Amino acid sequence: MVEDSTDQLKESNNPPGNENPFRSLKELLDHVSGKRLSESQVQQDSGLAEVLPYPFLALVGQVEMKYALLLALINPAIGGVLLIGPRGTGKTTAIRGLVDLVPEVQRSLCYYGCLPEDIETGGIDAVCPNCAKKFARGEPLAAMDKIRLVELPLNARIEDVVGIGDENSIDQERLRLHRGILAHADRNLLLVDEVNLLSDEVVDAILDAAAYGSYTVKRGSIAATYRSRFVLIGTMNPEEGRLRPQIMDRFGLRIVVKGLDDIKMRMEAYKRVQTYLSNPRQVMLEYSDETNTAQNEVQIARDILPEVKIPENVSNQGLDLIRHLNIDSLRAEITLFEASRALAALDNRNVVSSEDLQTIAPMALRMRRSAFIEKYLTDQTDEEKEIKNAVNDTLMTP
Ligand SMILES: [Zn+2]
Repeated sequence: MVEDSTDQLKESNNPPGNENPFRSLKELLDHVSGKRLSESQVQQDSGLAEVLPYPFLALVGQVEMKYALLLALINPAIGGVLLIGPRGTGKTTAIRGLVDLVPEVQRSLCYYGCLPEDIETGGIDAVCPNCAKKFARGEPLAAMDKIRLVELPLNARIEDVVGIGDENSIDQERLRLHRGILAHADRNLLLVDEVNLLSDEVVDAILDAAAYGSYTVKRGSIAATYRSRFVLIGTMNPEEGRLRPQIMDRFGLRIVVKGLDDIKMRMEAYKRVQTYLSNPRQVMLEYSDETNTAQNEVQIARDILPEVKIPENVSNQGLDLIRHLNIDSLRAEITLFEASRALAALDNRNVVSSEDLQTIAPMALRMRRSAFIEKYLTDQTDEEKEIKNAVNDTLMTP
């Protein structure tokens, strides 16, 4: 379990200078939760309206949510995170602040998203004619770029999501698209707010792309596959409608976000938000050292992830647990093990422990069984109707 006790407000000081006093991102996370904002203003508000996201590390409490979001950054195989809770619990604030913790990525300079690796795998025809020329001249096709948060608009239609065909490209025997949201989400974070209010068609397209890291568009006899590797983060407010169990099951980690119980923590959260509203730059600066450290730590965790192993006795414990809970979905163990590997990496270890499983189990396993039961009951009702109809048709016809 992630204990909220690790997040009690402790008096603690800034880490000195540039040296990193933390053994791992896990330790850093514990540290900043207890950090208090200074009373004095670091810098006067310039009066210019700036879009500075509230620092992720300045969020009070919500330990499980913070872990889940960081784990999704470290290991995309977790299959995304769904944050479930009412409005005003910091869900969207946390997601927007997450962007600052992600290292830079290589991004295409071309409208069609061509990358040098396309040529490595598919030859020169795998990129657009423009990029082929650039490649021949030795010009770069991509550059390092900050990761972005792509937010799916609530009224998004399927063509906004997958993109629409480019009329002029048909003669090239290769379908090119006006890029949709999924293509823009490649190597970014994709935020799907209020996922329970979207159409099934749109949600299915997003979840398929998230699962495969790509998506295919067909237009007549031509089909094309586009890269779409993103970290999927969904939110839903259960007061505004439920999510189909099949969709719920396709999210890796499920976090129930509640308001803070502890009065001291609520007060601290209130103070930080008030300071942020009057001077966002101050809050950003007070957390900038830790934010930079955390960004490095996320990169380190990503780098060591391929080496993180699960000992057989630990994986057997995980499988036992899933069997004990009567969970059918195969996604249960994928998420449990992949998130546990990410947690070990986040703690700078290359072996998963039982404690890692204990921390991850609630996030990975909750609401999987209920999804099963709900589906079971729906199927059961359908079958009952079928039987009744069959009885009516065959036995009760005079
Ligand atoms: Zn191109």
